[in-house]
This record gives sequence, structure tokens and C-alpha cells, in this order.
Amino acid sequence: MIPISEPDLGPLERRYLLDAFDSGWISSLGPYIERSETALRAVAGARHAAVVSNGTTALHLALLALNVGPGDEVIVPATTYVATLNAVLYVGATPVIVDVKTDTWCIDPLAVEAAISDRSRAIIAVDLYGHPADYDALAVIGTRHGIAIVADAAESLGGSLSGRPVGSLADISTFSFFGNKVVTCGEGGAITTNDPEIDRKIRQLRNQGNHPDVRYYHEVLGYNYRMTNLSAAILTAQLERVSDLIASRKRVIGWYSHLLENRSDIVPQGSSSRAQASPWMFSLELAGATEPLRDTVILRMRGAGVETRPVFRALQQMPYLLGAQGIETPNATRLARCGISLPTYPGLDRSGVEHVVESLISAVDAVHQLGHA
Ligand SMILES: *Cc1c(COP(=O)(O)O)cnc(C)c1O
Repeated sequence: MIPISEPDLGPLERRYLLDAFDSGWISSLGPYIERSETALRAVAGARHAAVVSNGTTALHLALLALNVGPGDEVIVPATTYVATLNAVLYVGATPVIVDVKTDTWCIDPLAVEAAISDRSRAIIAVDLYGHPADYDALAVIGTRHGIAIVADAAESLGGSLSGRPVGSLADISTFSFFGNKVVTCGEGGAITTNDPEIDRKIRQLRNQGNHPDVRYYHEVLGYNYRMTNLSAAILTAQLERVSDLIASRKRVIGWYSHLLENRSDIVPQGSSSRAQASPWMFSLELAGATEPLRDTVILRMRGAGVETRPVFRALQQMPYLLGAQGIETPNATRLARCGISLPTYPGLDRSGVEHVVESLISAVDAVHQLGHA
């Protein structure tokens, strides 16, 4: 089976992890916490970086640091992993779901503009499958209306827009280091910002609201969202190797793009000329497919030993999001119906990619014949 993803862990990760283990600093104090934050600041081009327990807690802390709460609206794209939505609900704010762009599959600034109200407090843009959202346009909207921009950059570490790295493009950026992400430490996350006050709040909130100097004096309601030194050791190694990890993934995506360029019915996620996407997951649309046809392609590929993923369902389809089901987002709905992500990871070799593409093409051709029968 060719898996959808596989972490690339080498001797450096092993060495740092065992070093942390042998030192006895296995909890959330220890030198790798700061080392990973220093390494992340460099990759993200940001003045401050704080590591946390995962990408979802990173989003939660970002909204808390902005004082977003009940009565506030947060604009989010319909196409994203559910964590983006859940963070808004955790702080008691109201998610306002808008459509994504046809080409980049990222939040549509025109739809954002149309969704602004007196209650809008923040916009969470998502760098879908590694492609940075249009922060140039979002910054104009944010400034004009006095609304903060949060980048959910869980999928886009190493990408850039208009020459500036992901992690420096929004007021606050959040990352995930889950096992399938570009950089992983098992479970982990981080927040970057250039604002020292936001960084201070995030460090306090991730540590039970602890006063930085007075022991057991908790100034605010906080959380235990800390990362362990063991995870940070793996993370430090991954961040030191990030250019190699990205280069290997780019090679995989280059092969896919080349092998599929002659198929007009298989349309890869597009990109903006200002953007350098991080090569997270090669994703495509089966033009004109219905959901059952797309699901048949997924099943047939599985039968050929290839694991894939459907593109995320539109957020308003989540049954617990009461009252949202009527929202219309044609692009997000189309992607949820006919989108597929293919295996993308540094260790995938050329023959693996060829096998994935052959299995995709034969499944699509078979499904077209079924459709016409
Ligand atoms: C992975 C991911 C997250 C959440 O990260 P976890 O570390 O799994 O909590 C949030 N947003 C997006 C877009 C993601 O892909």
C-alpha cells in the first residue's frame, strides 16, 4: 500500500530525541523548547514563535490572544480542516463561512469583504494544501475595517507570498506538526507573530495563565497547551532539515504535475503567480465528477494499493454547526464533491508516483465508462 503520507525521520531526529530522553527533561521544560522556537522564527521570518501541544490549540490561543469571544464574528473559509471552525466555537464566537477561490482553493477576499459586519473581529485564512491565501488582499481588508488576520498555516510551513515567508504574512500565524504535515513531531503546533504583546499573552495562556514571575499566581484563565521537550527535540531536528524535506516533496509534486499535464479532466489545485506553495499534499479536481464517481475512484485506487483522501467537506455540512447548513459556497461544495489528494511525502520515489498516476488514470477512465454506460 502506498500511504497518503509518511513522516521522514532520520538520524538527527533520533539523536536529539535520545538526548532529551537521556537528560531527564522529558516534560515541557528543557532546552529543545527554545531551540525549536529559535529555528521556527528563522523559517517563518517572524520575531516571536511559541510552540504548543498541537495546531488546534495554536488556533484557540490565537483567538484568545485577540480577545475574540461571544458576540464576535470570525470569517472562515468553507474548505478547511475542521480545527479552523472548532477554534472559533471554543471561544464562543460565531463562525461566518465564506467560499474559496476557484483557482487556489483558498479563502476568496471578495467573499470576505461581502461578509464583513459590525461584529467582525477576525478573519482566519487557511493555506490550503500548502498554498498561501491572498494575504496581500486580506491585509487591505483587515486594515480598512480594523480586523485581525490570522493565518491557519498548519499546511504551509516553508511557503511564501510576494517574497515573504509563511509565518510572517498575517497578524498571527498558526502551525501544526501532526504526523502528516511538512514538519512533524508527532503532535505539536506553534504560533508566530511580530507583536510582542500577543506573544506574551500566548506564552501565559499556554501555561495555565501563570504569572511569569510569581509562582502559583494565575492572572487569567489559562490552559495546559504546552509542548514536551521530547516533541521539541524531534521538531528541532525537522526544522533544521526543512529545506531538504521541502525539496523532496517538491520533487514528488513536480512528477505528479508533469505526468498529469495532458489530462483535461484531472485539474490540479492552481496557484497564484505571487505565491510559492509549500508542497504539502498534491490535490486535484476530477472535472465534472459527482461525489459517488469520485468515491468510486478512491475505492478503485485503494484496490490498486494507493491510499488517497477526499478534499475536505465544506464546514457548513457539520451537523453540530446549527443553522449553517443553508450557506451556499459553490466552489467549496464542488471541491468537496470532486476533489482528491494524492500520496505526498519525501520518501515517495518516482516509481511510486508513476504507480499512483497509473492507478488514478485507470480508475478515472473506468469510472467514465461506467458513467456513460
Ligand atoms: C492539521 C490542521 C490543523 C490542526 O492541527 P492539529 O495539530 O491536528 O491539531 C488545523 N488546520 C488545518 C488547516 C490543518 O490542516
